[in-house]
Amino acid sequence: MTSADKRAFVDQIVADNRVVIFSKSYCPFCHRVKDLFKSLNVEYNALELDLMGEEGNAIQAALIEKTNQKTVPNVFINANHVGGCDSTLQAHADGKLFDLLQNTAREYDYDLLIIGGGSGGLAASKEAALLGKKVAVCDFVKPSPQGTTWGLGGTCVNVGCIPKKLMHRAALTGHTLQDGTYFGWMLPDEVHHNWEKMVEEVQNYVKSLNFGYRKVLREKSVTYLNAYAQFVDSDPHKVVLSDKKNVKKEITAQNIIIAVGGRPRYPQIPGAVEYGITSDDLFSLPYRPGKTLIVGASYIALECAGFLAGFGIEVTVMVRSIFLRGFDQQMAEMIGEHMEKHGVQFIKGCVPLQIERIEEPSSPNAPGLLRVTAKMNNGEQITTEFNTVLFAVGRDACTGDLGLDKVGVEVNKSNGKIIANESEQTSVRNIFAIGDVLDGKLELTPVAIQAGRLLAQRLYGQQTVLTDYTNVPTTVFTPLEYGCVGLSEEDAKNKYGEDDIEVYHSYFQPLEYVLSNRDPNVCYAKLICVKSDGERVVGFHVLSPDAGEITQGFAIGLKLAAKKADFDNLIGIHPTCAEIFTTLKISKASGLSVEKTGC
Ligand code: FAD
Ligand code: NDP
Repeated sequence: MTSADKRAFVDQIVADNRVVIFSKSYCPFCHRVKDLFKSLNVEYNALELDLMGEEGNAIQAALIEKTNQKTVPNVFINANHVGGCDSTLQAHADGKLFDLLQNTAREYDYDLLIIGGGSGGLAASKEAALLGKKVAVCDFVKPSPQGTTWGLGGTCVNVGCIPKKLMHRAALTGHTLQDGTYFGWMLPDEVHHNWEKMVEEVQNYVKSLNFGYRKVLREKSVTYLNAYAQFVDSDPHKVVLSDKKNVKKEITAQNIIIAVGGRPRYPQIPGAVEYGITSDDLFSLPYRPGKTLIVGASYIALECAGFLAGFGIEVTVMVRSIFLRGFDQQMAEMIGEHMEKHGVQFIKGCVPLQIERIEEPSSPNAPGLLRVTAKMNNGEQITTEFNTVLFAVGRDACTGDLGLDKVGVEVNKSNGKIIANESEQTSVRNIFAIGDVLDGKLELTPVAIQAGRLLAQRLYGQQTVLTDYTNVPTTVFTPLEYGCVGLSEEDAKNKYGEDDIEVYHSYFQPLEYVLSNRDPNVCYAKLICVKSDGERVVGFHVLSPDAGEITQGFAIGLKLAAKKADFDNLIGIHPTCAEIFTTLKISKASGLSVEKTGC
């Protein structure tokens, strides 16, 4: 055989076979590559050069000429040179092997499969479908330990933002009614709240949203699969779906977005799972919860405590350490003080040890009686009785049984969240993650939606814009709302140094408080500025009615790097709460009082 004949022979074999492995029968690296293809169920043609005598040597020489590679295995897929053992394994880890195999042979059921039909997943699915892709969303809700389940839309719609804000509003409505007489409303002496009626109205609205989402998906030709998805082997393009009857079905997609969110965590103490409830159960609870203990002191705990107290329910919050970890602690303490005045009791420096049932519920529409034993920081044990115990001690990412290890998606072992780069791409090239499941990012609905929308645009719309996770505004919907964007005072001092920070602040009294003589010194505004950067505002904080509305507007100022002078130059809208930010004059450093003295 001439050298040209040898090359032609190799080219022919490469052209005739989807997968060719030039191998040697004794080589352990060749065995590894063959094992990989076997595990992927991919047929290959292996030429054992050591068993082919002189012809084998000639082929190896031709391979060196063709590929510059002296060693075996020497792998080709669909006429593409993949390389040796390491390159082949790496291509598999990167998800590229499947792309190479797909060249001629692989067809996917969908261009994009999204696991999780919550805020992030639905946003990504609609955007990708708009860009002409064949998209499926699978969403499945495992019942809570108390048996609560819900429809399409994820946490926000069913057991999060929406029912929470409606119940917050229900409580504020009660508060407004109390002030009504000062505004001339002649109300009956006794006004009471009907829990069952509120739950019915809230749940009717939630169900209408579930229906609306299904309709929108249908209109946009997105396939909705009400089934639980899991990766089952090393194929990063394939998941197995299990429906509620546990009927299984395999589907494939070129790209997969994981948007599975999280579920409430229970403390590992006796009785917690049997007798406790979480936010997953509260918004559809068929009975007024009665005397309630809330364990936890962050967003969910304080918001739920706020609205329950607003309905006249006796509420106690068990605080392990501080309020609202990660938030500005001056503001967090002020929220606590206001809630205490509002009727919420706090047990600080305390964790529960066990929950026991001491009285069965008298009917399915009534709570029973629970005994809670808890331990104070000083070691003292306390025992108290409650009708309902609600745990709000954090949330776990829904990655435990997703099969991520099978495909090699990297997770943060300490919290189970998925690690991804700035493009939300995981350690496997064709698998992405967005929303609450993403490690190191905020757990907020608009964050998940933005990430889903922009990811779909980058994948299919030739866009390059990344999600900007900085300066995300947020609001804690406690009875007096707390809105913020940017840094807390603690973080600003850590970042820029205490001497470089100027804090402008003031109490203020909303006009709606004046007739009813509500305390003039509960609403508070604070701007945190960096002196060396022309007093650029890096932190905005407000404790006020409608703080969410106020913060949303001002957040654009921080995005655009507004300075204190820009706030001063802005003309206020009178009479509003927000106008306080256009007139902040007193710095904390001056030590001057910012208290209001009534009129
Ligand atoms: P999710 O909305 O949680 O959706 C994930 C979906 O995937 C779920 O339906 C889940 O059942 C499903 N799923 C999980 N695993 C699988 C699987 N293997 N196969 C198929 N389906 C699966 N944020 C705000 O911005 N403002 C608020 O006021 C606010 N209030 C909140 C109040 C409460 C009580 C809670 C709990 C959260 C609140 N949040 C709020 C946070 C917000 O709800 C979440 O950030 C948001 O829902 C996250 O969206 P997501 O798409 O990441 O996940
Ligand atoms: P977080 O993880 O923010 O807070 C958990 C709370 O539980 C902390 O106060 C923590 O105390 C306490 N805790 C943890 N373990 C125990 C224990 N074993 N015993 C007693 N207390 C314990 O969780 P949340 O559930 O409040 O909120 C989850 C996310 O949901 C938030 O980060 C937020 O992004 C989102 N969300 C947004 C809302 C909004 O936008 N308005 C509203 C509600 C939720 P410690 O400080 O000591 O650790």
